[in-house]
Amino acid sequence: MRCIVPVNQPEAILSIYRDTPSEELLRFHNLGAPLPTTTGHARLLISMCMDHRKDLLLPNEFAYVLRSAGGNLRDSEFEVSYAIAVGGVATVALLAHTDCGMAESPGSGPSSSRDWPNAAAEMWTLQQRTLIAMQRAIRLVTLSGLCAKRQCG
Ligand SMILES: [Zn+2]
Repeated sequence: MRCIVPVNQPEAILSIYRDTPSEELLRFHNLGAPLPTTTGHARLLISMCMDHRKDLLLPNEFAYVLRSAGGNLRDSEFEVSYAIAVGGVATVALLAHTDCGMAESPGSGPSSSRDWPNAAAEMWTLQQRTLIAMQRAIRLVTLSGLCAKRQCG
C-alpha cells in the first residue's frame, strides 16, 4: 500500500533517497537546510504545479524547474530531453500538492474538489501519463545518442 510520508525531520527521508539529489531537495525545501549561493550545476529536474501559492526553497542552479497545470509533463518532451541530455540530470522529481485547482478544472477533474479518492485517481492517471511521456523523452535522448555515435544523424 502506498502512502504519503511527511518529511519534517531528517530521519523521515526514505533510505532509497539517501545520497541522491532527491535527498538534497528534501533537505533544502522541507528541512530548511542552509542554501549555498549556488550548486554550480543542475542536480535534477523538478516538475511542479503552476499554482501561485506554491514555491520552492532551493539554491541557485540546483534544478531545472518546469511549472505547468498540475505539474503535468505532457508536451514537455523537449524540456525533459534537454535537462537530461544537455543538463546532465538523472533525477526527475514530480511534485504534487493538496487542493490543486488544476485537478478541479471543468472537464478534467473530479466532480467534487473534496473527493480525495477521485482526486487521487486523477493524480495517478496524470502520473502515468507523465511517466509515459518521460519514457518517450528518455528513449528519444537514447536514440539520439546512438545515432550520434554511429554518425547516422
Ligand atoms: Zn496545483
